[in-house]
Amino acid sequence: MTTLQFDPLRLPESCQDLRKEVRAFLADEIAAGVFDPSRPDSGSENADDFARRVGQRGWIGMTWPKAYGGQERSFLERYVVTEEMRVANAPVARFFVADRQSGPTLIRYADERIKRDILPRIVRGEVSFCIGMSEPGSGSDLFAARTRATKVDGGWSIEGSKVWTSNAHRSDYMIGLFRTSHATEDNRRHGLTSFLVDMKAPGITCRPIRQITGQSEFNEVVFDNAFMPDHYVIGELDGAWKQATSELAYERSGPERFLENFNVLRQFVRVAGDQPDARVAVGLGRLIAQLHTLRRMSVSVASMLEAGREPVVEAAIVKDIGTVWEQLLPHQVRELASLLDLDDKLFRETVDFEIKTAPKLTIQGGTTEVLRGIIARGLGLR
Ligand SMILES: Cc1cc2nc3c(=O)[nH]c(=O)nc-3n(C[C@H](O)[C@H](O)[C@H](O)COP(=O)(O)OP(=O)(O)OC[C@H]3O[C@@H](n4cnc5c(N)ncnc54)[C@H](O)[C@@H]3O)c2cc1C
Repeated sequence: MTTLQFDPLRLPESCQDLRKEVRAFLADEIAAGVFDPSRPDSGSENADDFARRVGQRGWIGMTWPKAYGGQERSFLERYVVTEEMRVANAPVARFFVADRQSGPTLIRYADERIKRDILPRIVRGEVSFCIGMSEPGSGSDLFAARTRATKVDGGWSIEGSKVWTSNAHRSDYMIGLFRTSHATEDNRRHGLTSFLVDMKAPGITCRPIRQITGQSEFNEVVFDNAFMPDHYVIGELDGAWKQATSELAYERSGPERFLENFNVLRQFVRVAGDQPDARVAVGLGRLIAQLHTLRRMSVSVASMLEAGREPVVEAAIVKDIGTVWEQLLPHQVRELASLLDLDDKLFRETVDFEIKTAPKLTIQGGTTEVLRGIIARGLGLR
């Protein structure tokens, strides 16, 4: 049976200077009115310029090779930047998918022409990526994808649709999973290929899907014979299944997986004041201890990525525990707040928003049930 490994690592001292730098940068951005840390989705109208300024600081693609514009810094340093951005509620939508997973996928598997062209632009905060995996009939079971890429002269023609594609309407590129041949009898995962998709190519339409919060973060993306050249194939033809797991390990383990609604906790600390009721203090202490433990586990996964390992099971555990925790957070905050006599509009609006957002947290990036299947398999239990 495989055992889990969460080395008790602390972030090195060298990360502390970087943390101060990031905090100072974010404080300046907040002071300049670029975004408001107490409002979800604040600053989205400034996201493009914000991404360029983050790029100028060298904080996008910071672990990537210098040959592609990166800084060859550590995953732990990247962790600090991601953490500070998330805690501050900074408008990272323009670059975080490319920084976290699309860029690393391109570095490992893409044609050299694509790497030279696109990676430096990601690093400068100029291009945005989305993830085209889910389809109407294929969510958790990615390998049931039916959207086809058919070989044509000089490239591939894509036909079909993807769904729940976050940020597709604001993205320049997608990394999409498409069927290029049938599954075989002994390998049902065979036959899917990863492609770079130029979202501005003719034949691609994004239809926003409205959420309960009133936002439209994700889309249905329809492909009507959209043409992509041959060198847009990423990695092995028909062999995307060999690449998808490492991409998902990047997606699952970061601090964004338990800090998405951190603002509700911060708002509660604000309204609870310096001398909270004893029952509130106990409740808050419990939440913060849990958050601290999650963070230690997540830092440990970052250190394994830094060491070149693929901690797929550990990453799935962090995502499972982290998203269940953040899903309960606004409910627990609401219960604790009922012990106080509060009349605070911002707090009420924050709790209301985060309760509406909570259901999605255990779905995006792989559902809790599916992650538990991965964990059980990784531990040799099934
Ligand atoms: C906010 C948000 C953003 C998203 N962004 C993206 C994106 O950018 N790109 C993208 O490609 N997708 C995205 N998704 C899609 C997301 O990854 C899928 O919704 C998810 O994989 C589940 O697929 P599904 O909705 O089709 O549900 P299904 O796979 O049909 O699952 C339905 C239910 O059955 C359970 N289930 C399914 N299979 C198993 C199993 N083997 N064992 C046990 N239980 C199982 C599930 O846990 C779930 O409860 C996003 C989703 C959300 C909510």
